[in-house]
Amino acid sequence: MSFERIYIFDTTLRDGEQSPGISLNPFEKLEIAEQLARLGVDVIEAGFPVSSPGDFEGVQKIARGVSGVIVCALARAIENDVRTAWEAIREAEKPRIHTFISTSDVHLEHQLRKSRAEVLEAAKKMVALAASLCQDVEFSAMDATRSDPDFLAQVLAVAVQEGARTINIPDTVGYAIPSEFGNFILGQYDRAPALKDVAVSVHCHNDLGLAVANSLAAIEAGATQIECAINGLGERAGNASLEEIVMILETRHADLGRVTGVNTTEITRTSRLVSQLTGYDVQPNKAIVGRNAFAHESGIHQDGVLKERTTYEIMSAATVGRGQSDIVLGKHSGRHALANAMEELGYKLSADELNQAFLHFKQIADRKKQVTAVDLEHLVSEEVRVQSDIFELESYEVTSGSGKIPSTRVTIVKDGETLPGSSESGGSMESIFKAIDNAVGTKGKLKDYQVRSVTEGKDSLGEVRVVVDVGGKPFAGMALSVDVVEASAKAYVRALNNAYRTGAVS
Ligand SMILES: [Zn+2]
Repeated sequence: MSFERIYIFDTTLRDGEQSPGISLNPFEKLEIAEQLARLGVDVIEAGFPVSSPGDFEGVQKIARGVSGVIVCALARAIENDVRTAWEAIREAEKPRIHTFISTSDVHLEHQLRKSRAEVLEAAKKMVALAASLCQDVEFSAMDATRSDPDFLAQVLAVAVQEGARTINIPDTVGYAIPSEFGNFILGQYDRAPALKDVAVSVHCHNDLGLAVANSLAAIEAGATQIECAINGLGERAGNASLEEIVMILETRHADLGRVTGVNTTEITRTSRLVSQLTGYDVQPNKAIVGRNAFAHESGIHQDGVLKERTTYEIMSAATVGRGQSDIVLGKHSGRHALANAMEELGYKLSADELNQAFLHFKQIADRKKQVTAVDLEHLVSEEVRVQSDIFELESYEVTSGSGKIPSTRVTIVKDGETLPGSSESGGSMESIFKAIDNAVGTKGKLKDYQVRSVTEGKDSLGEVRVVVDVGGKPFAGMALSVDVVEASAKAYVRALNNAYRTGAVS
């Protein structure tokens, strides 16, 4: 039996990055893209270059730095978008331009204010323009599922005729249900026979919790590309979850007859990295990547699994890369051991990066007996963030005790300039955040504050996540330290760095 190949189009860095509160800097995007390449996705949608200079830079970095995978940039069906997308990806080994326009009457009337004829014309011209710049062009009909099927088929046929090699039929608003969506795709194959000559793709949103089910229905109707995101990130309720789609096809491949190119043992690490860098936690009972996805709590289940794993497990944890690495380093481990461990984890560090990581590793190892693979992964993602920061916490000092008002002094460095700050107020965390505001000259409002331990044990690394409102916009920051006060201060500074990048802080 030969299995049909399903292409995995990852949009974590584009649709996922559009989730509220997520703001990845170009280095973080590159780090995630490198991991997506290791995971073995077929296409990385790296961003929407025309949307901001930072996004352009992130896409360009990925195009230049990540090989072995198609690097795709999004563009509305507007000449400047298409040309800007091409500028950002032209140096990629395998570039793809992804251009889109809405086809539903509700979007045409209220958002685009264009007639059907104008939409058809724009799709025709912009696919042709994209195809003149780039061999690999994808076209999406936004809000396809709420479009008149005949008009949609007409637009898709024109896109194929003008050179699109992949045609994406998105359920933009997450309204479809599986049986209906499968038939909708079959209907498009009937109405636009040219679709048989290209790859048909779907992009499903999870507003009704059906993104994965709808994607699967589309596969059974003939779609060969699935757009999805790690941890199901994306606008509103998110996109189809990459790990779920891949593991459905993997676990049930004998029945479904489809395969992907994904190396499933990289799934867990990818999920963790994305969660760390975006600040979006994974719910504990999330399929495949949730903390409890492979935990058996009931006595009957535990008993069964101990006797024979398959009694209650349909997949083994090892298939998705869980609980495999037993790397443990300590304070006597040297630079070489760190480099080896990093390589085993899939990170190739330059000499500079290794020096930085080693300094940081030593600080952790001084305070923590065992440095595990999870700690090291956190450490690497931490290093990546720091590279593009403008503000850096140099030192802090908090004096507090029962019945005393805490007083805090901090020193922030900006472009080599030292900015002192101080505060005397409320709780000790509030006091340190106010001292940082005082040094930087901002008035941040703390919207969310979370602390958790990364690993087990009293000497565990503490991870602090904050969301700070600056000028009416939320900015997230995350930092790690064995000391929670230090992690909190660093997380706050990180959020201000994110605010600085968008111009909310000067
Ligand atoms: Zn979307």
